[in-house]
Amino acid sequence: MSVGMDAKRRILVIEDEEDIVLGLKEAFSFEGFEVVAAPTGEKGISMAADLHPDLIILDLMLPDTNGYKICEQVRRRDKVVPILILSARSLEADIIRGLEAGADDYVTKPFSLGELLARVRTIFRRSAAAIARPSSEIAVGEAVVNVEARTASIKGRVVQLGFYEASILQLLDEHRGEVVSRDQILDTVWGIDESPTNRTVDNFILKLRRKLEPDPQTPRHIVTVYGHGYKLV
Ligand code: CA
Repeated sequence: MSVGMDAKRRILVIEDEEDIVLGLKEAFSFEGFEVVAAPTGEKGISMAADLHPDLIILDLMLPDTNGYKICEQVRRRDKVVPILILSARSLEADIIRGLEAGADDYVTKPFSLGELLARVRTIFRRSAAAIARPSSEIAVGEAVVNVEARTASIKGRVVQLGFYEASILQLLDEHRGEVVSRDQILDTVWGIDESPTNRTVDNFILKLRRKLEPDPQTPRHIVTVYGHGYKLV
């Protein structure tokens, strides 16, 4: 799946100040985004529903309503679309209220275009990562591993996994049923700069088996494919 920054993403700007809309259109189009704009809250709500934007940039003081209400309305229908509030209201209470209404980020006016672009890129990177990893649970036989908590529960018993154990398991799970070579594991989990030996990988595989396999001596789920690598089945 391509999750690169170059994919054409649609940004809906709900904002009544024309100068700001023009500035955002110019800057974001230049960066390869598609920008659509709504000058009122009502129009914004309908465009959000019809156009399925990848991100909403929302002003708080709109001619017909306030942005908090728009935020809540959008959230009722769409729990996922990132919302960034762009507002002259800079009090902490305003920011907290915006985030509680369901916004993901808050930038105060006057703003720097560079900072806004950076924030938008961060939001897209986060959402791309979440899409690439839809499930944070991995089943290994009767064990269920929670990747974020790095815990495995096996018949009511819970064991903790180390960082590298969890990372290796996650990689094997992404290629479930296929062989993953030791080099692939080293490159993905440790990166090019830090390179422990193949032996290190084998040791972590042994640890994983001790924690997750019913009989670690004769593994049934984290299996060795001789001469090639490991496979999760
Ligand atoms: Ca305004």
